[in-house]
Amino acid sequence: MKQILKKILNFLLLCAGVSPLCFYLNYCRKKQIVFLLYHRIREPRDCYEPAVSAVHFQKHLKFIRKYFEVIGVDEAVGKLRRAEPLRRSCAVITFDDGYRDNYDPGYAILKKEQLPAVIFLALAGIDKKEPMWTSYVEALFELTSKHELVCANLPGRKSFSMQTPVLRKAACFEIKSQMKRVSDCRRNEILEDLIRILEVEIPETHEMFSQMLDWEQIRQMDAGSLITFGSHTISHRMLANLNRDEIVSELADSKHRLEEKLGHPVDYISYPGNSYDQQVVDLAQQSGYAAAFAVDQGISQPQDSLFKIKRIHIENGGVSDFIAELSFALSGIRKILKRLRVTK
Ligand SMILES: [Zn+2]
Repeated sequence: MKQILKKILNFLLLCAGVSPLCFYLNYCRKKQIVFLLYHRIREPRDCYEPAVSAVHFQKHLKFIRKYFEVIGVDEAVGKLRRAEPLRRSCAVITFDDGYRDNYDPGYAILKKEQLPAVIFLALAGIDKKEPMWTSYVEALFELTSKHELVCANLPGRKSFSMQTPVLRKAACFEIKSQMKRVSDCRRNEILEDLIRILEVEIPETHEMFSQMLDWEQIRQMDAGSLITFGSHTISHRMLANLNRDEIVSELADSKHRLEEKLGHPVDYISYPGNSYDQQVVDLAQQSGYAAAFAVDQGISQPQDSLFKIKRIHIENGGVSDFIAELSFALSGIRKILKRLRVTK
């Protein structure tokens, strides 16, 4: 319902000329580099899944190619570092996690449009086919037949009704948000509690065990000129919740592992779950990265840190929604839209 309201509002703002005006002020009058964040390229299973359908992705690309210079990550970071004046606004396409659909249909669409992108890989999912903990939680909620959940170990709300699929998905979304805030150890405990309470055994054939890219697909894309690969750590744990040694290991080991597999330097990292603090930023710099990416909605300016580059999270939707996402990234209207937002 909220999703529909948001789409109607985006459409009305487009028709009233509000989003085109904000778009003009942000990207035509001002020249900026906008970093777009995607996760999956597939039809979203529900309003909580960070996925954009192939049809909408193609529409987004056609739109940005018309109004922006679409550049690769090296060029964009170079322009920010040198505070280079821009002839027109630029856009950089980024993907987090490394899902298989980034290759098919994502890469196929990028190749068709001849547009560059950067994909940040969470390596445990690729090396060991180990699902990210978020996928694990989602599978538990998808497969359970329970109609309510009480989990005393959760740091926030502990009791959830799951009488309808909508309530079950809302519970899953809130519990994942709560689990992002706790330590690694506590999260594992909560996960064990959820497995026990929801009484689910996830079959080995479940989609989450084959949803990530494999090394053959990565090598193929790396051999072309369009895709740059970056690290999204090894385990996709929330870096700001880890101790110093664990952070160093996530940052440095993922860089070395990727460089070993690809045979060339890897210069960029994105922080899983947007979890970072000053220690994480300092250690990313010391680990030899040239820049690091956050998910703080907005647009980085040349004077901002290259280790907290902002990205705009793009949700599934047509061109009016896409213009609204881009246009209101810096304005107060975004806060109003955010109240209607149910995905992240
Ligand atoms: Zn991620």
